[in-house]
Amino acid sequence: MCKVIAVANQKGGVAKTTTCINLGAGLARRGQRVLLVDADPQGHLTIGLGFPKNVKITLKTMMENIIMGTEFNPKEAVLQHCEGMDIIPSNKLLTGMDISLVTVEERESVLKEYLQLLEADYDYIIIDCMPSLGMLTINALSAADSVIIPVQPQFYSADGLVELLKVINNIRKRYNPQIQIEGILFTMDTSRYNNSKRNKDAVRSAYGKEIRIFHDTIPRTEAIAETTSEGISIFQYDKKNKGAVGYDKLVQEVIDHGKAE
Ligand code: ADP
Ligand code: MG
Repeated sequence: MCKVIAVANQKGGVAKTTTCINLGAGLARRGQRVLLVDADPQGHLTIGLGFPKNVKITLKTMMENIIMGTEFNPKEAVLQHCEGMDIIPSNKLLTGMDISLVTVEERESVLKEYLQLLEADYDYIIIDCMPSLGMLTINALSAADSVIIPVQPQFYSADGLVELLKVINNIRKRYNPQIQIEGILFTMDTSRYNNSKRNKDAVRSAYGKEIRIFHDTIPRTEAIAETTSEGISIFQYDKKNKGAVGYDKLVQEVIDHGKAE
């Protein structure tokens, strides 16, 4: 069965896209069939995997077909990455979709309807959300079985989660009763600094009782920052890097969660 995971946080720069790429690549390395979906008009996932930003057939094209009720081939937008995962690309034209969805009937479930056409071909579909809680993110959360929330351990991190958790609770009540929080993931962790420890503790004491927090954190490493312009994952770039070890542990935890369910 296919598991759909949204990677969401309305804060930018917390490693949502980096987590999608490396979780996806890590799962693919273990023989899982993976589809990554770029649901951010900034197209960072698309560019970050080495695809051009002016690619013609995108997530927007697919969602428009669903809205219009046109006959179409749902695989037409799928691109293949050299590390074995597939991707549905996006670019800035998706901005219009975030706005035009507002007037569409059953506007929260357009992405879900589209992904259902692809689920049979994948073990995991991972959605890279944009840094806002607009209609595209609502669509991603409505389509998802679970959410990963990347958090950079900073002073305001615990505060910023309140709004996101409220939205997830609303989605659970209104559209998607089975949505679970896969976990809060600490990213760009500089654990040798006391400040980082303090901020992780603040999140753990505010949410740790009700929300799963991934056991391992992703360290901040130069190599991960460098992969962004290389179009590959940290596993391909330097599999001995501490960041690769961190992401591999995340992959293991996600697989273990699936077995426990
Ligand atoms: P988001 O998608 O949440 O906006 P990104 O994944 O684009 O965040 O990450 C923001 C920036 O931080 C990128 O330049 C990325 O290369 C860098 N980055 C992400 N994770 C790490 C890490 N573990 N170590 C170093 N740099 C990182
Ligand atoms: Mg991003």
